[in-house]
Amino acid sequence: MTKRAVIVGAGIAGLSTALRLRQAGWEPVVVERTPGRRSGGYAVTFGGLGYDAAERMGILPELAKHHITHDDMHYVRPDGTTRFTVPGETVRALLSRRAFNILRGDIEDVLYRAVRDDADIRFATTVTAIEQNPNGVEVALSDGSGETADLLVGADGLHSHTRSLVFGPERDHLLDLHHVVGVFVMDRRPDFLTEGATASLTSRGRTVAVISLGDDRAAAFFGFRTGDVARDLAAGPQATLPEVFGDLGWLVPDLLARLRTAESVYYDTLSQVVLDRWSDGRVVLVGDAAWCVTLFAGYGSSLAVGGADLLGTALQQHSDITTALARWEAELRPEVRRKQKLGRRVKGLYAPADPFRLWLRDLPLRTAALPPVSYLLKRRLQLAG
Ligand SMILES: Cc1cc2nc3c(=O)[nH]c(=O)nc-3n(C[C@H](O)[C@H](O)[C@H](O)COP(=O)(O)OP(=O)(O)OC[C@H]3O[C@@H](n4cnc5c(N)ncnc54)[C@H](O)[C@@H]3O)c2cc1C
Repeated sequence: MTKRAVIVGAGIAGLSTALRLRQAGWEPVVVERTPGRRSGGYAVTFGGLGYDAAERMGILPELAKHHITHDDMHYVRPDGTTRFTVPGETVRALLSRRAFNILRGDIEDVLYRAVRDDADIRFATTVTAIEQNPNGVEVALSDGSGETADLLVGADGLHSHTRSLVFGPERDHLLDLHHVVGVFVMDRRPDFLTEGATASLTSRGRTVAVISLGDDRAAAFFGFRTGDVARDLAAGPQATLPEVFGDLGWLVPDLLARLRTAESVYYDTLSQVVLDRWSDGRVVLVGDAAWCVTLFAGYGSSLAVGGADLLGTALQQHSDITTALARWEAELRPEVRRKQKLGRRVKGLYAPADPFRLWLRDLPLRTAALPPVSYLLKRRLQLAG
C-alpha cells in the first residue's frame, strides 16, 4: 500500500521533503499556515549537501536558471565613504563551483513547481493535534478535517508548532545567539550597486547592507547584537530598527524610510535549534524546525534540501519507519553539528562591537585576492567543494 505523509510547512524543507517522498513512491499531503505562496526573501548560498541532493532530485537545471552572479562587495564607513572593495572576481572565486547564489524564494518556487501536480498542498491550514498509535499517526487540522498517515513531518521552521506539540516548549530548544535581523525586498536597486554586488556598513555591533538580487531588485538587511532579544522582538522592526540604526549616515536614512512602507519584513532572532533527537515515533522534524544553524552558517537551505533527500533515501531503504529515522539522523547529525559550530564561531565576526575587532575581521577580506588567503577563507567558512 502507498505510504502517506503529512508535512507541516511549505518552505524549502517541507517542499523538498514532499518532492523526495513522492519520488520514493509516497503520497504527501502538505499543510501550510499562510494563505498562499510566499515570495522574495534574501539571497542565499546554496551548495554542499543541498547541491548534491538537488542534482539527484532533478531540480538542478531549474535552480541554475536563478543563479545570481556575484559582483563587488563594498565595505563602507558610517559617512558613506568606501573603506575597501573586494572585487567581483575575488568574490566569485570564493564560491564553490558546485554552489549557487540564489534567492531563498526562488529555491522554494522551483520546488513548488516540481511537486505541485503530485502532492496535495493545502494553504491556510495547520495542524492542531497529533496522536500516535502503533499503526500510524492521527493528525487533526485547523479546517476541522483529520488525516491518518504513516509519518508526520514537521517542516514549520524556527518556531515550529509541530515541535512544541511533540517535543515540548520552544524555550527548551532554542539557543539564543543574541542577534536580531530585519530583511526586506526593495523593488529598485540603488544606482551605484551593480547587479550581484553587495555594500555593507558595520559599526559598533550593527551591520546594515544592501544586496543586489538581480532584475533590478535589492534586499535591505539590518542585523545587530542585543542583550534583550525578547524586548526587541516585541517592539517590532518599525520601532526597533530606526532606534538602533538611526544615527548612521550613508544609505541608512533612505533604507529606514523604505522600511516604513515595506510590504513584508522578515524580522526575527538568530537562534539555533538544539534537540537531542529529531524524531519521536512517527513524527520527524526537518529543516530549521529540527536543527536551525542560522544565517551565520550560510547553509540552512542547503541542509533543508540535503536532509529531505537523505530522509527519502532512508525511508526507501528501511521499511520500518523508526529504523529509517534513526539511520537518517545518524547520517545527517555530524554535518549539522559542524555547521552549528561554524554558526556560533561566525557570530562574533558578523557585527563586531569594537573597531579593532572589525579591522581584524576585515583583514582577510582586504587580501582575499591572494591565493593563500582565499584558500584559508574558504576553509574557515567551510566553502570548499
Ligand atoms: C537573512 C537570512 C540569510 C540566510 N542565508 C542563508 C544562506 O546563505 N544559505 C543557506 O543555505 N541558508 C540561509 N538562510 C537560512 C535559510 O533561509 C533557512 O534555513 C531555510 O530556508 C529553512 O527552511 P525551512 O523550510 O526549514 O523553514 P522556513 O523557511 O521557515 O519555512 C517554514 C514554513 O512553514 C510554515 N509554517 C510555520 N508554522 C506553521 C504552522 N504552524 N502550520 C503550517 N505551516 C507553518 C511557514 O509559513 C513556512 O512556509 C538564511 C536565513 C536568513 C534569515
